[in-house]
Amino acid sequence: DAKDKGKNTYRLFDSSLSEKLQRKVELETALRQALAQDMFTVCYQPQFDMATRRIIGAEALLRWNHPRGVYPTNELIQVAEETGLIVPIGLWVLRTVCRQAKQWREAGHHPLRIYVNVSPRQFIDNRFVHHVQQILAETGMDGHALGLEITEGVIMRDVHYAQETLQALRDMGMKIDIDDFGTGYSSLAYLKRFPIDRIKIDQSFIRDVTNNEADLAIVKTIISLAHNFQIPAIAEGVETATQFQLLKQHGCDEAQGYFLGRPANSEDFNTHLGTAH
Ligand code: C2E
Ligand code: MG
Ligand code: MG
Ligand code: MG
Repeated sequence: DAKDKGKNTYRLFDSSLSEKLQRKVELETALRQALAQDMFTVCYQPQFDMATRRIIGAEALLRWNHPRGVYPTNELIQVAEETGLIVPIGLWVLRTVCRQAKQWREAGHHPLRIYVNVSPRQFIDNRFVHHVQQILAETGMDGHALGLEITEGVIMRDVHYAQETLQALRDMGMKIDIDDFGTGYSSLAYLKRFPIDRIKIDQSFIRDVTNNEADLAIVKTIISLAHNFQIPAIAEGVETATQFQLLKQHGCDEAQGYFLGRPANSEDFNTHLGTAH
């Protein structure tokens, strides 16, 4: 009996594993198709200065308008990352953002810096800087219109490469954010050597910040770390007025989240641009 049980358990595990693999292969094919058929879009979520409540930028977020509804971005990014498809998808996002930013500028809107997420595989691809340069040239955009959000793990992987790459991007006018800060394992000793412009506090610490003392302690630590480096801290995932007030009280500089504005398609995002003056 025990043997049978063991066998069943094994078979169950086995079939769920191959199902997972099957799903991944299907998803990869679908993503390739979506890229070729222009089924992706980019949403924009506003970022605000906490003191003045003025809009200071926006984060570009990929959306896949799947026939069965909007597909969870986290999941598709993960598969794109594993399969390498994130490289062409990421370039598509960057090109789309540059074109959009140019259009907004030509329409006379206040120029906003738009932050684009860059995942590990994109960043460690040694053609990355070259590709960014190409896209700027092709779209006629200036690097000053852009920011890049990278995660801690990426820069710790190859410190020398990361330093050079970040410096090259900054020389092109771009700002560099460390996204999801606090969830990785940065060495503070290394962190000080990187040209970084802003620290983004991960939303997992913001969620319960108003009633969890440990989360508040972490948030306060990250804010003072940023200030010691003389750069601003931005909180992500700010959903309530109480969270907003508490963060402001503790010196957090900037905020992004549903309380202030949800990710919106480029047309709807115009309402934020209208109030930018
Ligand atoms: P992220 O860069 O940390 O982006 C923040 C995520 O939190 C977004 O999820 C955003 O929609 C969501 N969010 C914003 N405000 C709130 C809030 O108040 N409450 C809650 N609960 N969530 C909020 P999204 O758009 O599903 O993206 C998930 C992740 O996928 C992103 O996390 C980023 O890591 C990745 N991603 C998205 N677009 C791209 C892209 O173009 N390229 C790459 N490489 N990664 C991307
Ligand atoms: Mg981000
Ligand atoms: Mg984030
Ligand atoms: Mg996050």
